[in-house]
Amino acid sequence: MRIDGHTRLIAHLGFPTDSFKAPLIYNPWFSRHGVNAVVVPMGVMSDHYSAFLSALRNATNYHGALVTMPHKISTCVLVDQLSTRAKVAGACNAVLKLPDGQLLGDQFDGAGFVAGLKRKSQAVTGKRALLIGCGGVGSAIAASLAEAGIAELNLCDPQQAAAVSLQHRLHSFFPELKVFVGNHDPADQDMVINASPLGMKPDDALPVDTSRLSSQCLAADVVLTKEITPWLQAALEKGCRIQTGSDMLIEMIPEYLRFFGFGQASVDELRLLYEESH
Ligand code: NAD
Repeated sequence: MRIDGHTRLIAHLGFPTDSFKAPLIYNPWFSRHGVNAVVVPMGVMSDHYSAFLSALRNATNYHGALVTMPHKISTCVLVDQLSTRAKVAGACNAVLKLPDGQLLGDQFDGAGFVAGLKRKSQAVTGKRALLIGCGGVGSAIAASLAEAGIAELNLCDPQQAAAVSLQHRLHSFFPELKVFVGNHDPADQDMVINASPLGMKPDDALPVDTSRLSSQCLAADVVLTKEITPWLQAALEKGCRIQTGSDMLIEMIPEYLRFFGFGQASVDELRLLYEESH
């Protein structure tokens, strides 16, 4: 790949950086498609983050950033403008430097999730979903489902405060949406989404009682440790359609590329690059 004085810099901000895979997907894609940009991992610890971002924004070749843990929440107050979905999620994972130098923050975890549903022809408008886990990813998924017109969300999290806080944020931006806290019965849901870490460890419980799951329901997982997690396996055995964690992850990349102004990307090509990066 060629880096010259015109190359646009996308900073991949987080700490630690050891597990970063995005450069292995974006940079080959940039090379193949003649985009003069580069994604560079930048390990920044929390104490230095605000000062680092302030300095970085003044670099004339700074185009934007992919933001990951532990900076997704703090970035919300460091940018000049924030999308509605980032406000509802309370987290920001993308930054774009606008022509006037302002920084725009957005959030694509949920957008990737909803794009994956659309690819599977799963309707969202007017539907009802059970969301297990209301942390960073769960909140982002809730925000994007609300934007896409879902009718009812049932939120479940052992930290009740996380679910109630998300309920309040959803109500303030989407007053028409029905949001309930505490119901974890999967019966009568159009979608059941595990957005909790359940399934990362081999002895984890399943997120819901699968005996109550209808075959008409779409089961989704965000966990990336296995392609078919125990929860998705149980749902397949009930005859459900599924969406995997990697489906969501890969669908996020075209959303980022559009946000950065780099054009359209094929999900099939991105999936190959993703598989090569592992
Ligand atoms: P987080 O810590 O912000 O939130 C996790 C939430 O799950 C917390 O609110 C926690 O209380 C809740 N939780 C824990 N146990 C639960 C249980 N038994 N039932 C219901 N809720 C429970 O974490 P996060 O950043 O939201 O990440 C969650 C998962 O998403 C992780 O496994 C992470 O690897 C995965 N992830 C996937 C993608 C993707 O693209 N697929 C992207 C980012 C993160």
